[in-house]
Amino acid sequence: MPHARHLLAIEGMHPPQITELLDVAEAYALLNRSGNAPRDLLRGKTLINLFFEDSTRTRTSFELAGKRIGADVINMAVSASSVSKGETLLDTAATLNAMQCDLLVVRHGQSGAPALLAQKVDASVINAGDGTHEHPTQALLDALTIRRRKGRLEGLIVAICGDIAHSRVARSNILLLSTLGARVRLIGPPTLIPAEIEQLGVTVFHSMEQGLPGTDIVMMLRLQRERMVSGLVPSAREFFRRYGLDHARLALAKPDALVMHPGPMNRGVEIDSAVADDPERSLIREQVEMGVAVRMAVLDLLSRGHSRNV
Ligand code: ASP
Repeated sequence: MPHARHLLAIEGMHPPQITELLDVAEAYALLNRSGNAPRDLLRGKTLINLFFEDSTRTRTSFELAGKRIGADVINMAVSASSVSKGETLLDTAATLNAMQCDLLVVRHGQSGAPALLAQKVDASVINAGDGTHEHPTQALLDALTIRRRKGRLEGLIVAICGDIAHSRVARSNILLLSTLGARVRLIGPPTLIPAEIEQLGVTVFHSMEQGLPGTDIVMMLRLQRERMVSGLVPSAREFFRRYGLDHARLALAKPDALVMHPGPMNRGVEIDSAVADDPERSLIREQVEMGVAVRMAVLDLLSRGHSRNV
């Protein structure tokens, strides 16, 4: 990402940019484990977390990432701010500009909101998830987690399973994994797989029994009921019966296949606890750890590429 000003999407990123980011994140992962992160790197820089939608992992890991390398971090609770009094996104942008923030991390329910803000603020904008569009840092942390365990991404077969239609995680992962040479399969009911998605170079399956054989990575997604019109899925129990991942289903994938989930998990709906908590097969904890390293790398690289006009 040399000299990039914002991180808005995986779409449009080239393999060397992604690889550079993963390499820097890998170094941060090691520094974090040894407690040697460069604590003054972002001294004097301000990072604002602006979350219009709920988040646990993403917001806290951006906060931790910023603090670990010395930025001043402010979390704006949107419901407590003037946005709930009717202030528009662009008024909010003007306020943030006046505060001279350097890095703005934005999550919003509308696809494209971070890109709109990026046109209006002086800060570097990082998309922390916009509607059903993209969640670039999630795809980067997933790629780093896979690369560390499997040693590569190229040639791997990755199955992304469940509610693809409402998932920005799926979209960013499809784009990133395909760009770096992995083969992506999508598995889910026809109602939860967008028409035309095959144009992105993926293969679609409507049953786990058909889609899982031969896979190296099985990535599970929750049903995003908050974005669904009603009637797209049967009951939770029926969904688990057809698309849930338990050990018996996992046995259909390669013997060394590993399981991922971006969270939040709905245990017993898309994933069985015995799989989610299996230290031999589940990468879910490591994904969270790599989330901090990836976000440190993103903040570091964006700060290098951008000096604010004062
Ligand atoms: N945490 C992820 C996201 O914000 C996935 C999810 O919500 O299911 O997109």
